[in-house]
Amino acid sequence: MEKQVVVVTGGAGYIGSHTVVALHLAGYTPVIIDNFSNSKPDVLKGIAEIIGEKPQLFELDCRSKSDMQQALENCAAIGEIAGIIHFAAYKAVGESTEKPLDYFENNIGSTASLLGAMSELGVSNLVFSSSCTVYGQPEESPVDELAPILPAESPYGYTKQACERLITDSFNSSMSLSACLLRYFNPIGAHQSAAIGELPIGHPNNLIPYLTQATAGLRGPLTVFGNDYPTDDGTCIRDYIHVMDLARAHVAAIKWLQSNEPSCEAFNLGTGQGKSVSEVIAAFEKANGISVPYAFGPRRAGDVVSIFANAEKAHQNLGWKCELSLEEALRDAWKWQQKLSKA
Ligand code: UDP
Repeated sequence: MEKQVVVVTGGAGYIGSHTVVALHLAGYTPVIIDNFSNSKPDVLKGIAEIIGEKPQLFELDCRSKSDMQQALENCAAIGEIAGIIHFAAYKAVGESTEKPLDYFENNIGSTASLLGAMSELGVSNLVFSSSCTVYGQPEESPVDELAPILPAESPYGYTKQACERLITDSFNSSMSLSACLLRYFNPIGAHQSAAIGELPIGHPNNLIPYLTQATAGLRGPLTVFGNDYPTDDGTCIRDYIHVMDLARAHVAAIKWLQSNEPSCEAFNLGTGQGKSVSEVIAAFEKANGISVPYAFGPRRAGDVVSIFANAEKAHQNLGWKCELSLEEALRDAWKWQQKLSKA
């Protein structure tokens, strides 16, 4: 049988690399397109440790439509292109307020180039890496996909909304396209083997990488941003999903696109359970038998008080749901940090 190729832009990144592993396990041939702007080529070695071979890579900037077109032609020579998963994007909320132009140019520009190249080559299945940030501060949680898209709090959030819109408009045009817009809640953890994980470059902005680095003694104590929020313990609530559960959802989305009539659908990907920052710290301490150095500090500007997913639509349509617990995610996150600390 001809190989079923799935092209993964940003496949050397955090969620991308785990998805490459999940695609391989599901029998697909993942091909990575990445320019290592926020990742390291060593990730490929980690992937190879798990799947037994280095995935094929095309190193290029997704903003170049001609390069993308050439890469897709090369992928089509490897096998039938079952679909494309588009992760490649800048993702730091804070940085996006400093460099809005870079974010608009890179995130929206690369999605436009990709859609153009797909159209030229007649590739129609697209899975887009979106975020629950499109919902802003929702009126209530759990949020489902019908919740209103509120004005974005950051240039980063705006680029996710704009790309969703660009993909939806392309679907409504004469372009032959079928798309899943996957809205992630808070991905955490690492592959159970600790061969791949999150590699934050510089000061980590997200909770778990900061927490693990602080616990490893690489940074000062974790600052919990605010304990005076209107929640039970005063800290913000999020929906933390194991990155391998998230990775499997991408495989399910590709399969769904392959077996359904063309459509353009958004899916929330989360556990459906909201956890406060204090609960996460306690769960980490319990799961790993280690104490986390932390202190309460002032609120962080722009933080949403509480958001967690109603992921029923993904369950019903994609046949996917989370299988791994918060404790497993926190154990895997710590295992990965310990490996990084030794390296
Ligand atoms: N958070 C924190 N200290 C940190 C980083 C994050 O208290 O050093 C909190 C943050 O205020 C939020 C939660 O952890 O309530 C998740 O933050 P993260 O940046 O990981 O994700 P996002 O804000 O995008 O949901």
